[in-house]
Amino acid sequence: MNSKTFDIIVAGGGIAGSMAAISAARNGTSVLLIEEEGYLGGSLTASGTGPMMTFHAGEKQVIRGLTDELVQRLVAKGLSVGHIPDSTGYTYTVTPFDSEGMKRELDLMTQEAGVTVLFHTSIASVTVENGLLVSLTCLSCGTLFPVSAKYFIDATGDADLIAMAKVPFEQGRTTDGRDQPMTANFKLVDVDLAVIRDLMDSKVELFPLLSKKPGLQKQASRLSFSGFEEIMKEGCKTGEISFDRDIVLCFETNASNEVIVNMTRINGKNPVDPFSLSEAEVEGRRQVWELYAFMKKHLPGFSQARMISTGPRIGIRSSRRLKGMYQITVEDMFLQRRFEDAISANGYPLDIHSPDGAATDSRFFPNGAYYTIPLRCLLNDTIPNLLAAGRNISSEFEAHSSLRLSPSCGAIGHAAGTAVALALQNGVDVRYLPSAVLHKRLLEEGAFLG
Ligand SMILES: Cc1cc2nc3c(=O)[nH]c(=O)nc-3n(C[C@H](O)[C@H](O)[C@H](O)COP(=O)(O)OP(=O)(O)OC[C@H]3O[C@@H](n4cnc5c(N)ncnc54)[C@H](O)[C@@H]3O)c2cc1C
Repeated sequence: MNSKTFDIIVAGGGIAGSMAAISAARNGTSVLLIEEEGYLGGSLTASGTGPMMTFHAGEKQVIRGLTDELVQRLVAKGLSVGHIPDSTGYTYTVTPFDSEGMKRELDLMTQEAGVTVLFHTSIASVTVENGLLVSLTCLSCGTLFPVSAKYFIDATGDADLIAMAKVPFEQGRTTDGRDQPMTANFKLVDVDLAVIRDLMDSKVELFPLLSKKPGLQKQASRLSFSGFEEIMKEGCKTGEISFDRDIVLCFETNASNEVIVNMTRINGKNPVDPFSLSEAEVEGRRQVWELYAFMKKHLPGFSQARMISTGPRIGIRSSRRLKGMYQITVEDMFLQRRFEDAISANGYPLDIHSPDGAATDSRFFPNGAYYTIPLRCLLNDTIPNLLAAGRNISSEFEAHSSLRLSPSCGAIGHAAGTAVALALQNGVDVRYLPSAVLHKRLLEEGAFLG
């Protein structure tokens, strides 16, 4: 088969890859978006994760542009209630959405922009010539076929393309290379959330973070809650819960009384080892069924709950990360660095689910504080026409735990697509694209840069 040629190929159609493809195409380039599943959205639609959190730092909305446009389009169709207070008390706002609606909206947005989307396609090999990535061999429907481009954006979450092209990367924490746990999220319907709301009023001490901001739940049209430590402790003691988890964590979706349960913990598996990943899927489902039974039996408001789905794929929080021209650090985040080549901002805290225990290491920024992410975290000198976008950009393990959230990944993807399109239009290597040129365009596109 002859190689089809594009200006830009984006690998991975999660929130980062979708935003990258749409922004690049809106900027006049021809774009191919390659996705292993049969729909876009990545973790948000394939792993049952949500709500999106958070677009805010205090009162200020620090994630805007294309990612917010997606939300506003969903809001206009009744498929999201938009940005509402986070009634767990963990962060500022959450953005519940209808995951089927998101799949459809991303189809519409990619179609309107003129992106060519290849579903059910994986990448079998890459061809590098003279220090540049020139083509990919794809695999779909039992057929191997080549596609080529001038620029490639790796938005696979796991930096698959980066690894295949032998660009340096890191994985896991520095002490032992272990990643945050994977989690199999699941959705329940027919939960009686009025019961939980009553408890939030009458026994707020059951919800440790909310107890510092009592009454927050009254402003939230959809409920998020984190608590019931004693019930979980008892479950672990009796053996009804056989894995490490210290707290109940649930998020109501766009549909009333439908909740996402974000609680299972699959530790000690490697998300980029095919055999280990498969073991994690089985263990994830085992934990889901154990937890489902436990919640129905012991959690107030859950006795009639019914499971409607597990994510088609297990949720991967962290895996490979590009070793790029710059690695964003925890210090950068706490110093609220404003980089000269900033492409996005973020106010979500460090949120490290323990790679070997029940706890979550959360490190909060002062109220309203946010940091920026520099373009150099997406770039590398080994293969300069290959960028990272989304949760696989260049960062310290701990710093990654903040920028990995979906609004942030969307903003990074948006910037990646625009940067590459501008580099092509201006005939410059993206590493030397003047920040002023990129900033002007991103601001015109509604982005917030700090
Ligand atoms: C359990 C869990 C709960 C979370 N909860 C929240 C939450 O409540 N709120 C929030 O905002 N964020 C949450 N996150 C984080 C967030 O969902 C993700 O980090 C973020 O969406 C990542 O976006 P991405 O586009 O970088 O990657 P992904 O969403 O991982 O998308 C990558 C895409 O690339 C595709 N792909 C992978 N490899 C290939 C390949 N070789 N070829 C072609 N396609 C490929 C995948 O199918 C996928 O569609 C959670 C994550 C997990 C794991």
